[in-house]
Parts: sequence; C-alpha cells; structure tokens
Amino acid sequence: MCLHDSLSSMGALIADVVILSNIPKVLSYSIPNDVSPKVGLRVAAPVRKSTRVGVIIGIRESSESDEGLKDLACALDEIPFIAPELIELISWTSKYYHAGIGPCMALAFPPYLRQCRTIILDEDPVIFRTDRENDRLGPHQKSILDAIPNTGIRMSTLKDLLPGITQKIKALAKRGFIELKEVPCSSAPSCSATPEYTPDQHKAISEITQAIKAGRFHAYVLHGITGSGKTEVYLATAMEAIKLGKSVLYLVPEIALTPQTIDMVKSRIPLKVAVFHSGLSPKDRAREFMKVAREGVKFVLGTRSAIFSPLREIGLIVVDEEHDSSYKQEDGVPYNARDLSLLRAKNNSAVVILGSATPSMETYDRTRLPHSSLITMTSRIGPAKLPEVEIVDMRGIQGPLSDRLIREMIDTISKGEQVLLFINRRGFSAALVCPGCGKVLKGSRCDRSLTYHKAKGKALCHWCGFTMNLPEICPSCGCLDMKPIGMGTEQVIQAVQKVSPGKRVLQIDSDEMTTVKKLTAALDAIRAGSVDIIVGTQMIAKGHDFPLLTLVGVVYAEQLLYMPDFRSGERTFQQIVQVAGRAGRRKSDTKVIIQTYVPDHPLIQSICGYDYQAMMEIERGIRKATSFPPYSHMARCVVSSKKDKTAREFSFQLALSVNIPGVEALGPAPAPIALLRDHFRWHFILRSKNRGALHKAIDIIERMHQPQETDLKIDVDPYSMM
Ligand code: ADP
Repeated sequence: MCLHDSLSSMGALIADVVILSNIPKVLSYSIPNDVSPKVGLRVAAPVRKSTRVGVIIGIRESSESDEGLKDLACALDEIPFIAPELIELISWTSKYYHAGIGPCMALAFPPYLRQCRTIILDEDPVIFRTDRENDRLGPHQKSILDAIPNTGIRMSTLKDLLPGITQKIKALAKRGFIELKEVPCSSAPSCSATPEYTPDQHKAISEITQAIKAGRFHAYVLHGITGSGKTEVYLATAMEAIKLGKSVLYLVPEIALTPQTIDMVKSRIPLKVAVFHSGLSPKDRAREFMKVAREGVKFVLGTRSAIFSPLREIGLIVVDEEHDSSYKQEDGVPYNARDLSLLRAKNNSAVVILGSATPSMETYDRTRLPHSSLITMTSRIGPAKLPEVEIVDMRGIQGPLSDRLIREMIDTISKGEQVLLFINRRGFSAALVCPGCGKVLKGSRCDRSLTYHKAKGKALCHWCGFTMNLPEICPSCGCLDMKPIGMGTEQVIQAVQKVSPGKRVLQIDSDEMTTVKKLTAALDAIRAGSVDIIVGTQMIAKGHDFPLLTLVGVVYAEQLLYMPDFRSGERTFQQIVQVAGRAGRRKSDTKVIIQTYVPDHPLIQSICGYDYQAMMEIERGIRKATSFPPYSHMARCVVSSKKDKTAREFSFQLALSVNIPGVEALGPAPAPIALLRDHFRWHFILRSKNRGALHKAIDIIERMHQPQETDLKIDVDPYSMM
C-alpha cells in the first residue's frame, strides 16, 4: 500500500506547500485523486490567477478550517527530488535568517526547475576526436579539439571547462571532427595516483576517517599553512566516505571554482562528480542537479548554494577556505553556507572539515565546543618553505613601487621566475579629487567616489555600475586637472612597465578577466611560464598553485585595515597571508615584500611572522573589549528608501521598539554607503550575548508596520557592514 492509499483511508488529504517564489507563507491545498502526494514532491499549484511551482512539505488530514481550499493542479515529478532532511535544513534557514520559506526553498532548486515543467534533459555523451585533419579550423574550434583527450571526454565536463560551446560542438560533430558516443555513466573515469602522504597528512586523514567511520557528527577545523597539502586530506577522506557508501559535499569559495579545480577533483575521484555553481547555463544547472537527484551521483563540488544540493546520506562536508566571505550570501536570503554546513552535517551524522590557512575567529573558537577538534598542519610539502616576509616602509616614497621591490622584481625575472604584485582595487585610482575645491567626483546614484579607469577614459561606480566620461574640468568649481588619489591595478601596471620595459605583464582583475575562458587562458599562461609579472586583485590571491612564482609584492597592505568593519584586522591578515601563500610552493628561498604606511602596526607585524596566534590575540582583545562577535551575537538592520527622512525615521522607530532585556541596539546611523542606487540607507546593529533574545528582538522589528517605499533588510550574523 502506498502512502497515498494509507493516508486516504484517514479522510480527505491536505498538502502543505511552499511556493518557489517570494511568497513567505506555507499554503495549503486539497489533493486531487490523481496526485500521489509525497513530502518533497514538486507540484503545480494555483496561486491567485496563475499556476506556480511548489514543494510539498507536509501531508495531513483535513480539518474544518481547510474548507474551500483549492486543489493542487498536478504533480510535476513522479518521485521527490529532495528528502525531508533537506526540507528541515531549509525550514531552519528560513527561521534563523528571518527569511521567507519560499525564497529559502527556491535555493534548493536550479532556476530551470522553479518553473512548471517536467524535466527532459539531453543525454551526456562522451566526445571523441576523429582522425580528420583540423587545419581548416579557426583558433577557437582548435582549442576545443585540443581540450579533448585521446580517451574522450564527457560533454558536460568539456562544457565545464569551456562554457558556452554547445553550438560549436554541434558544428564540429556535423563536420566530422568529433564523434559523440553514448557511454553508460557507471564506467568510472580514470584517476590520477595519490601521492605518498606526509606525516601531517597521514595524521589528519586517519583521525578524520575514524570519525567518518563512526558515523557521528564531528567538526574538524583543519588549520594548515598555505601549501601544506590540505586538498589531499579532503580528497582522501572523501574517498573514505564514498567507500562507506556515503556521499560527499565539497564546497569551495566562488573565486576558487575554476576549471582547474573542477578538473583536479574529477581527475582524483573515481565517480561522477556534479558541479554546482551559478555560472552554469540554466539547463546545465538543472542537469547537474538531476545527476544528484535522479542518477544517484554522490559527489557534489560547488560554491555556497551547493549546501542545498539534493545529496542524500552525506558522510562528509568539506568547506575549503572556510574563512572566505563568499560563503555568505549578501543578496536575497543572507545565509552562510559554512555555518549551514555544520547543521547539515549534524542532521546527517556526518563529519565537516573546515579548512583554512587563516581560520576565521568564529571557526577557530569553535574547536573548544564538544564534537569539534583542531588539526594543524605546520609545514609545506617537500622542499617548499613559506616565503620570507619583508616589510617596506612607504612613508616618503612616491609611486606604487619602492626601490626595494623593484630590485627584487628585476632579480626574480632575471632568474626566469615570476612576480605577483597584489593590489586589491581595479582601475587606475580609487578616486578623483579636485585640487581647487577639494570635492571628490561621485556618481548621481551612490554616495561613493567614482573609480578612475584610465584605459577606458572613464570614471565608474563599482557599486551601481554608473559610468561617465572623465570630465575635463571639475563639475563643482570648473577647476582643471582632477587629481587621481589611491591606486588600482592599472596604475601599478603603468609603474611596472616603466621600471621593467619589455617584460610580459598580465593584469588579472574583473575588468580584464570577463569570462571563465579568459581566466583559464591566463592561469594556463602563468603555469606555462609565458608571463613575467602578474598584477592582480583578490581574483588571483587565493588557492592557485603557480610553480614558477617566487616573489609576491603586496602594494598597499593596509587597504582593508581601516574599513568600518570589526573584522577588518582579521581580513587584512587573511588576505595578505593568502596572497603570500602563492609564492614558494615548490622551493625555498622565496620572498614576500609588504609595502605599507603603517609598518609598526601590530597586525602588519603579525603577518610578518605568519603569526596567526598573535593576530588572534590582538583581535580577541579588541572584540572582547568592544563586545563584538564571537563575544556577542549580532544582526544588522538596514532601512533604505528614496527619501532620506523616511529611511531615518523608520530606522529610529525600529531601533527604539527593541525592548528585550539583554539586547542592545547600536545606532541608527547612516550606513557607510549612505546612498546606493538612488536609495538612502540607515542601519543599526542589534547585539546580545543571548541568541534567543536576539531573535525575539528581530521578531518585534519584523512585526512593526513598514511605511510604503521603504525596504528593511535583516542580516543575521552579518559579514558586510557597508
Ligand atoms: P594547500 O591547500 O594546503 O594550500 P595544496 O593542497 O594545494 O595545499 O598542496 C600544495 C601542493 O603540494 C599541490 O601542488 C599538491 O599537489 C602538492 N602535494 C600535496 N600533498 C602532497 C604529497 N603528499 N606529496 C607530494 N605533493 C603533494
């Protein structure tokens, strides 16, 4: 007897349904006879005058209050894509982050499946090259052929490597350059060999494996210096989970999910791997989802949204670079995938590895909690050593590059090695200031200075995209010659070209690397040694492994340090240690030069010795004295409106309404970005040592009547203070 039969003997049935949209409430429907209801099933449901996709989260007998409910239109699938365990995670997310259940449920489905359609996805054939001579092909088509190994490649894998090539594949097949063959998915891909583990790796792998075998929740904070071989620990323990029949979720920060990472994981895991990230086409996202939901693929590699992937029986969750802020979603539901990984692991009695060379304070401190442990890896693999750090005092020095850094650059390049210059701002200068009236050039929609992009001859707002041609005179006073202040990648490149003419310089920032293909080609060029000097932003600072890179120059070390954010010290340390970690991954005797105007700042000093504990001590002292997390829990409330007065008054009304003992409201005040896309923004912080009390205070705020034309954003455990 199916669930439907057994339930129907109890009387009319009602389905509680979450609609995959902004509808915040659970809606109830009666179930027509031809629908066999199951928790997790996608259904088409009437909502006002339209039909929307929903997911059944509960089935119950009808009661008097259910009179007159509409019928569900139909079931969209035969069996549910998501299990009750995932529904539980989604419900928790909705409650904890004070977000509607509809938007939270939508996170678990790719956009293609949020529409009323049943799924018909194409097959995933294996592509082989034919013998046909390829001398009449263009460079792009040749590069596609070059990416196909002799043993063939799955269409989906090739598309991960070179997105947007569907039409070109069809054309190449039509012209006989490639053949597409259906090969059953069960044939395991061939795998590259595992290396001989270091003692640190052995210890970490065996401890974590024991916990996976025990089948109990446990969180490991894997604090391993850059280049200590953490990835091998992730892969080896993942294989142990797979051997036990469990599935594995492997999360990486957005910026790290390059084709190289996908390739590396796929080359080491002898199973099909599903890749989850928002850069895929809607159909490819649905295809990856279906691999997991229908074909039983047990390994998901993805960015933060993969935390909601439909894996079942998870044995291990890896959160690589756990300190990375891209695990926190800023728009929509403001969830943190790293934090949710702990909950999902708990619900699955699984193990989590939170790995980082620079763990966040929240993560490091959790090692004192039950079911948590710290594992450290303190040395690099083989002869590689952490680069020696030297601080250069920039006071009194003109231009972006000190003589000391220039000398080291010339020396490094003369040995055939590579230099990375890190500056975390794109464009030429951070702002343009009028030397006459002192006004900073701003756009019309945001209260931020415009960044000068010299190559384009334009001034851009990096917040809203506003663009203007560079004014010849100051718009305020008519004075000539606006002065650029602060620097970005373009200015560093200009200085590099002056001091080392003829050298091969590569700019890696979001202005230049506008497609995955460009970034892949750039990373390949660095690895192939066809670049001498890389000038890059955080896009290049993390995770990459460049064998020839032996000198890193941090051009403006304190750029983050004075941001209005209680994490700015910790973030400065994390950012510089990560970028320093790109050098010397194969050899010793490598160098990092940190240029700074505050050489004696204790935080800069702690970076100098890679002294994570010293940094933590400094930061702990400050956080404790000021009662910021982890010494309190926080939620940030941002009110925005087209009228400054409306935003200000409503934010005061909200902050004053909080009368829960033990909860304080700091502010309101204009947000650091006080005008964004034509909206004035006020914010205040709710803070408490007691999480329950904090949530009660948020409940009060949510119940307040919201004036028209205002927007209220509540961000629990906020990351951005801007
Ligand atoms: P981390 O993630 O800790 O920064 P990686 O996992 O990227 O470090 O490892 C650094 C380099 O060392 C990589 O090129 C990796 O392939 C290599 N590696 C890791 N473990 C071993 C090992 N046991 N033997 C040889 N090479 C290794």
